[in-house]
Amino acid sequence: MFKRSVYLIIFMVVSPSIFCSESVNVYSYRKPQLISPLFSAFTEKTGIEVNSIFAKKGMLERIKNEGKNSPADVILTVDIGRLADLKNADLTQQVSIAEINENIPKNFRDKEGHWFGLTSRARIIVASKKRVPKDSINTYESLLEDQFKGKVCTRSGKHPYMIALTASMIAHSGKEKAEQWLSGLKNNLARKPQGNDRAQVKAIHEGLCDAAIINHYYMAMMLSDPEQKKWAESVYVIFPNQDGRGTHMNVSGVALAKYAPNKKNGLALLKFLSSNIGQELYSKKNSEYPVSEKVNRSSLLESWGEFKQDNSDLNKIAGHRKAALMITDAVGYNF
Ligand code: FE
Repeated sequence: MFKRSVYLIIFMVVSPSIFCSESVNVYSYRKPQLISPLFSAFTEKTGIEVNSIFAKKGMLERIKNEGKNSPADVILTVDIGRLADLKNADLTQQVSIAEINENIPKNFRDKEGHWFGLTSRARIIVASKKRVPKDSINTYESLLEDQFKGKVCTRSGKHPYMIALTASMIAHSGKEKAEQWLSGLKNNLARKPQGNDRAQVKAIHEGLCDAAIINHYYMAMMLSDPEQKKWAESVYVIFPNQDGRGTHMNVSGVALAKYAPNKKNGLALLKFLSSNIGQELYSKKNSEYPVSEKVNRSSLLESWGEFKQDNSDLNKIAGHRKAALMITDAVGYNF
């Protein structure tokens, strides 16, 4: 113990700059292993140290409770729902930097500059290679057909991923049609909605259902997991609605905290995250799609090829979330 403090004192004397170097504080919903290479690259480029706190749950409440004393500069999270909630809770501030706006398409950032999408994720359909003939599902709507009665699995209809999908249905076809769709989907469920996206693929592998709706990157995660690889290999990937509006896309994104104590460094991090190299590092780590078409994709995504994305404005989709939740309750989706 004594020895350690001696070293520390010596270190401080020799290198005081280490202890008063520039830094930025990140509150992250993303797991440390997904973001640490990104932060290392940022520090190498700018000399700004990144301190990150990982919070899977309760991040919004934490920042709210900290109020004006919150050390958070930058907030990294997933899903349009969580990004919109941060803005609506008045925990973010406006950022208006031409470079960032050029790097991120308009439909993937807040219209007032309170949040920015960095990677996008496709809400795909997966179906059993053994039991579902190719081309028998090609839209979210086709999951309602009689051939899939009692054969569809999803997670809770109230999970942000499902709410955003239902909200996108409202954006395209209105509340009534969206409610009909969700009610039809419920009627074809094999079981009460439960588990995460990967659990639906496992259920297909085990023969409990034939088709499911999941976020695309879970396929990459399962393929690299020795136990889950067989689940992923039992299904094929379908990008729905290719002849129409395209596949529903959501984002993982970033916001500048309202009371960011290191605002200048926070903005530098935002710029870096939005840059081509930032997007590439971030998206490849989790096999997500970069939001900019100019950025290289992971090899798995390359192997899946191009597909038509639903490029509805996420601002609009965020605005339909409340109605989507009401519809989910109204049809009793979760039983
Ligand atoms: Fe996820």
